[in-house]
Amino acid sequence: MKTKFQPDENGYFGEFGGAYIPELLYPNVKEIEDNYIQIIESEEFQKEYRGLLKDYVGRPSPLYYATRLSEKYKAHIYLKREDLVHTGAHKINNTIGQILIAQKLGKTQIIAETGAGQHGVATATVCALMGMDCTVFMGEKDIVRQAPNVARMKMLGAKVVPATSGSKTLKDATNEAIRYWIQNPHTFYLIGSVVGPHPHPDMVARLQAIISEEIKWQMKEKTGKENPDTIIACVGGGSNAAGAFYHYLENEEVELIAVEAAGLGVTSGESAATSQLGEVGIIHGSKTILMQDEYGQIVEPYSISAGLDYPGVGPLHAFLFDSKRAKFMNATDQEALDAAFELTKVEGIIPALETAHAFAVLPKMDLREDQVIVINLSGRGDKDLETYIKHLDA
Ligand SMILES: *Cc1c(COP(=O)(O)O)cnc(C)c1O
Repeated sequence: MKTKFQPDENGYFGEFGGAYIPELLYPNVKEIEDNYIQIIESEEFQKEYRGLLKDYVGRPSPLYYATRLSEKYKAHIYLKREDLVHTGAHKINNTIGQILIAQKLGKTQIIAETGAGQHGVATATVCALMGMDCTVFMGEKDIVRQAPNVARMKMLGAKVVPATSGSKTLKDATNEAIRYWIQNPHTFYLIGSVVGPHPHPDMVARLQAIISEEIKWQMKEKTGKENPDTIIACVGGGSNAAGAFYHYLENEEVELIAVEAAGLGVTSGESAATSQLGEVGIIHGSKTILMQDEYGQIVEPYSISAGLDYPGVGPLHAFLFDSKRAKFMNATDQEALDAAFELTKVEGIIPALETAHAFAVLPKMDLREDQVIVINLSGRGDKDLETYIKHLDA
């Protein structure tokens, strides 16, 4: 049975989604569309996927009760520790799943795009694991900002191709990857978030859903109840949020909070708060909410975190926003930095800058003392150390 949070037969969540692609890509996208659910639901896939999640990725990731943070905010705060899985972020849940799907479809060449470098590393990792050929497109600016991840990808055997157009960041890398895919339709495009043409948003959401599947039994084990009152996650394209929300989407009693990057301020002109600034449009093959000017040209987003620096959100999130199923909040660069330093001092956990945005809304919320909150700690902050060092004692 389909829920309204799963795409209809044309790939739409409400009015969002679909597959706006050049004709040359039809066979490729259709091949995935015709097979992905059957593959994911097969016993063989589930056995391999769950086996690798356990022994290679290190799942289940812990659900940790953050005592000192809870005391500070006078609520019960649990952290879903995606920072502890292999490669240091949730992205591996998706890449492990998609590489298995690619394998079942007989593909041997993988392409991907990356912003912070995390998805590139997660993709290069699983390509090394499976012995597959890997090409990663990355904005020239991000290659500089995220040099250690570029080195990791190269060490893992991936070819890193710079995107030199536009803002030289994630959206340009995505454009390059799509261009390459059109010219090389035999490759498998391993998309890093719940974005792109149908069925990618749904496929990635299903692969990240392991996060909320675990939260359910872990909550039950710890509190006797499966459901927290509130789940908070940061949103770039929306994959870690989709995974943390997935099994709670239909339970309206669970409040879902998506946190976008407000950069220097929502209305500063230097922001990535898509739901606040965006209009309906088409980006990277799907109809969604995106930041655009009066002529429909994409507005360059800005955030201190490379992973949230994206002008759109996935179609599921556009639907969650439009239908008000999720509440959309945002945090500025400075608020995210403050939250990162606070979490580090209070709990001894250095979060990724992306993740810090999710923590930055705590001071803005009206919390009840009995409120049970899960924050999806999407990744660790090692990759952002250079930025943190610049702001130490600032
Ligand atoms: C990539 C990334 C994000 C943003 O991507 P989503 O698809 O929105 O999850 C968030 N946190 C971390 C740690 C990341 O690496």
